[in-house]
Amino acid sequence: MDHEGQILPAAHGIAVGLRSGQAIRIENVHGTQVVDTWALSARDPLEYASMEHTRSWNSSIFVEAGAVVVSIRRRPMLTMIADSSPGRHDTQLCPCSSELYSQLGCEEPHRSCTGNFHEALAPLGMKVPFTPASLNLFMNVPIAADGSVTRKPPASRPGDSVTLRAEMDVIVVLSACPQDITPINGADHTPRDIAFAVLNAPQSGNSDD
Ligand SMILES: [Zn+2]
Repeated sequence: MDHEGQILPAAHGIAVGLRSGQAIRIENVHGTQVVDTWALSARDPLEYASMEHTRSWNSSIFVEAGAVVVSIRRRPMLTMIADSSPGRHDTQLCPCSSELYSQLGCEEPHRSCTGNFHEALAPLGMKVPFTPASLNLFMNVPIAADGSVTRKPPASRPGDSVTLRAEMDVIVVLSACPQDITPINGADHTPRDIAFAVLNAPQSGNSDD
């Protein structure tokens, strides 16, 4: 599967297969876009990346460069081998959903990360009967000492990227978050395209390739 240098259109999702050792670089072209990200084992999609196990594994509530994303069976699935953004990718908040947009007052159907997850898996013939928690790349959710969370625009700059190396054969699902009501995708509330590329010989570090 060759996804070299592709654009993922704003508010849409895609599933990308990675063999163990390959990596995916996700570029925040405009700097303001959150990317909800999932990983499923290519052999068993019910073994999926688990944010609660990942927090336990890394002893951190954020995913930063060097962090490992593990499955519900505590097996490494992805390693964040490079990150040129300010880091601190969110693991706390759930992916947006049609129910959320209804609760925010939308009367028309609204695209969502939850919908994008299932829509992206459908062409692969994959069905998951629930929506796992997502790794929310570039999502800026500071957590105060009292436990309260704040939704802020991304702190990333145009062209910032993260690189995730597959530690097993995985299906990675990306959703360019359609949220346009809160400022999570920038102060102008505008979802935007992202770019991604599959790397066959990824290098660690923040200098990209
Ligand atoms: Zn979303």
